[in-house]
Amino acid sequence: MFIKDIFSKKSPVISFEIFPPKKEYPIETIYDTVEGLKGLNPDFISVTYGAGGSNKDRTIEIASTVKNKYGIETLAHLTCYTSTKEETEFILEKLKRNNIDNILALRGDPPINKFHGKSNYKYAKDLVRHIRKIGKFSIGAAAYPEGHIECDSLDKDIENLKQKVDCGVDFLITQLFFDNEKFYEYKDKLIKKNIYIPIMAGIMPVLNKKQIKKMVSLSGATLPKKFIRILNKYEYQPEALKEAGIIYATEQIIDLLSWGVDGIHIYTMNKPKIASEIVQKFSSIRYAINNR
Ligand code: FAD
Repeated sequence: MFIKDIFSKKSPVISFEIFPPKKEYPIETIYDTVEGLKGLNPDFISVTYGAGGSNKDRTIEIASTVKNKYGIETLAHLTCYTSTKEETEFILEKLKRNNIDNILALRGDPPINKFHGKSNYKYAKDLVRHIRKIGKFSIGAAAYPEGHIECDSLDKDIENLKQKVDCGVDFLITQLFFDNEKFYEYKDKLIKKNIYIPIMAGIMPVLNKKQIKKMVSLSGATLPKKFIRILNKYEYQPEALKEAGIIYATEQIIDLLSWGVDGIHIYTMNKPKIASEIVQKFSSIRYAINNR
């Protein structure tokens, strides 16, 4: 099923992101995660693509198993920065053969080794345009409520997003953020630019201080004062920090749902128990919204 059609039937849409296990681990290890997430009734599960520069081959296999064995709708991430059109078309065909209807079209991060051979794409919008021309897929893309880290200003980044959306994007998923007000201001700005497609809020529960340092350096996400207080207070008490991280993410989600967000995308970090703790905490709210 196309994810764009899920949005036309229900709101909020709830999804989980997983990533393929490292090459040295058997691929099967991910299916314990999928089993754990299945019971939470996600509208779809997304599978990252070569994040960190490896494991690209596993994305299709995992997305295919999620869809065809577990019967859960899936969204395969696909990056283009180092790809040729021929390589992309080969992957698109493979995705279709595996019954995968949805792609998150991404540029990807530049490789550490700057020389990466021939590529036919500069930005994600080039990939969106290519997939749209081929047809047969519902297309999602990334959005950045605080601006993409490489872009000088949020307004410029939104102008670039508008071009990407106009190439044929059906829905957006945001990078993680910790301050909901940034998301609400962003949504207002998108509407002013005539961007009306559904946008899912990307939420990452923070479980330890090392993880947050890495995430902030990669994304540039603002840390609100109340969040910093939690980090400072419990940084050497892992269980307390984990508990606070789960509650903080849950509070963010409850606020977003009350505001009327189109969807919530939880970065699970392949930890289904954490996702489950969060989802269970807002299960009555989810039920109430879906049955109004
Ligand atoms: P783009 O939309 O191309 O934007 C990249 C930069 O180029 C931005 O600064 C933008 O403002 C600028 N830009 C765009 N168009 C123009 C233009 N015409 N002129 C000048 N500047 C322009 N990475 C992975 O490797 N694998 C994954 O699976 C993955 N999943 C992700 C999932 C989500 C929900 C998100 C938010 C990110 C994900 N990423 C993933 C990270 C992503 O690949 C990086 O953030 C990357 O740096 C940008 O990708 P993009 O698709 O947003 O690029």
